[in-house]
Amino acid sequence: MSDAEQRLADVQAGLDRACRDAARSETPLLVAISKTFDADAIRPLIAAGQRHFGENRVQEAAAKWPEMLAETPGITLHLVGQLQSNKAAEAVALFDVIHSVDRPSLVTALAKAQAAAGKHPACYLQVNIGDEEQKGGCALADLPALLAQARDAGLNVIGLMCVPPAAVEPAPYFALLAEHAKRLGLSGLSMGMSSDYETAALLGSTVVRVGSALFGSR
Ligand SMILES: *Cc1c(COP(=O)(O)O)cnc(C)c1O
Repeated sequence: MSDAEQRLADVQAGLDRACRDAARSETPLLVAISKTFDADAIRPLIAAGQRHFGENRVQEAAAKWPEMLAETPGITLHLVGQLQSNKAAEAVALFDVIHSVDRPSLVTALAKAQAAAGKHPACYLQVNIGDEEQKGGCALADLPALLAQARDAGLNVIGLMCVPPAAVEPAPYFALLAEHAKRLGLSGLSMGMSSDYETAALLGSTVVRVGSALFGSR
């Protein structure tokens, strides 16, 4: 086994174990977060069969992905980082899934961009689940209005996403996000990173975003 195959197998085994423990029949989708890593680090994962990748900056993704996308058909690109409205058109052109829709002005910019491009990326509404000052994400109280606006604008909203506060037990935050998704009738839950993807899988995550456990530390 290559290094990349081993790391993929380890993460997949952790997800499978969590799903067995939670009696879940469907394992979350594993998105490999390749931010800060170059093509030489990413290609072994593609060779090992990984097809879903995520980036947190539009500019960085635009510089390194077009060549790899041309080499290997069937790769799905996810944007997981904060998105400025003036980069909405570029984001819509490059990404298949956007995990960080978090405010009305961005919904408006994305709606305009997707109408111009004729392309409709799947979207998650990012929630500031720990109500943290510095963090991106919509406040829980504003979520129903943002969802209504996004739907009216024609965005393909499939779920909720969160990054829980650092260095505290994430389980209560994952459970809270799951509860709100259920209440809003959304089936997608983008939650879980390298340090907590098993906990997230136990609590109903449908997509985990794993970087350092697959690529090494940044
Ligand atoms: C970097 C990042 C990840 C992956 O983090 P790791 O701890 O390296 O697994 C997941 N989600 C978002 C939003 C990120 O920015």
